[in-house]
Amino acid sequence: MFSEKLLKWYDLFKRNLPWRTERKNPYFVWLSEIMLQQTTVATVIPYFGRFILKWPELKDIAKASLDEVLVEWQGLGYYSRARNLHQCAQLLANAFPQSEEELRILPGIGPYTAAAIASIAFDKKAAAVDGNVIRVLSRYYALQLPMPRKEVHQRLKKLLPNKRCGDFTEALMELGALVCRPKIPLCEECPFLETCKAYKLKNVESFPLKHLKEKMPTRYTTAFIICRQDGALWLRKRPSKGLLGGMMEVPTTPWIEVKNAKQKTCVKHTFTHFHLEATLCYRDKPPDRDGLWVHPHDFKKYALPTVMKKIIKAGLKEFESVQNSFDDAV
Ligand code: SF4
Repeated sequence: MFSEKLLKWYDLFKRNLPWRTERKNPYFVWLSEIMLQQTTVATVIPYFGRFILKWPELKDIAKASLDEVLVEWQGLGYYSRARNLHQCAQLLANAFPQSEEELRILPGIGPYTAAAIASIAFDKKAAAVDGNVIRVLSRYYALQLPMPRKEVHQRLKKLLPNKRCGDFTEALMELGALVCRPKIPLCEECPFLETCKAYKLKNVESFPLKHLKEKMPTRYTTAFIICRQDGALWLRKRPSKGLLGGMMEVPTTPWIEVKNAKQKTCVKHTFTHFHLEATLCYRDKPPDRDGLWVHPHDFKKYALPTVMKKIIKAGLKEFESVQNSFDDAV
């Protein structure tokens, strides 16, 4: 049986991850699931460690300010996750609901995350379909569909065992991460070698079928590097809603898809749905009072997204002494 084989493999080969505790901890499961969205396990581990050290339980993070959460989150990207995390903790304060339906109405918890938490933390029979699961089952069944999520969901529901449902969910994801990898899968080490259809077709890597991606647009901006004599830089806070909401930035012109031919791109950064190219412009006075002076040795106290770190680093290159302290600070 599929689930028996998978669980047997999982018991032997699962990784020791900090959120996989002997007794399931819903707070750890939730925190790790939010952090792991669009982010690798290796990147998440140190962040997860810092979060649980600072906020060991849900009630602790529920008392934190949004700024504190954003500061700890910086560098992890997709900052709406941090804002939703904070909001969700405040709403819950003490405990998580256990059903998929109740979880799904919480901030930052979509159908996948709701099913993952219900299953992993509370052992509910919930089908959590992530990229790993899509890959494993698309190959196992050799699904000839370019967007197989729905089909995979249906098939996964039929495979769910009555016992150890949480372990089953983790096991399938683990198999996708360790064995049924996107490139050069280790089929010889897979418990499904004999029944996998893609393996039989000798065509493993063509599943899941690729669909043509739309070309991502590029947006352009001018970023103002406003430096004071003592090396302090003028920063301002972005609006609380929208991209990088509530985080700090150097002032920029609106990010639009029209390029000024005279401008020279200095910094490039890619977001999920567009590329950004920034031109740098130096000023010695702030444009308005909407901001504050921050010395490089204090940068760590503020939530600076990666794109802004890149811009500041490039902008401060001309100021050698400041650059050195920036490297130390970030
Ligand atoms: S046999 Fe290969 S392709 Fe099939 S599920 Fe296992 S690792 Fe994936």
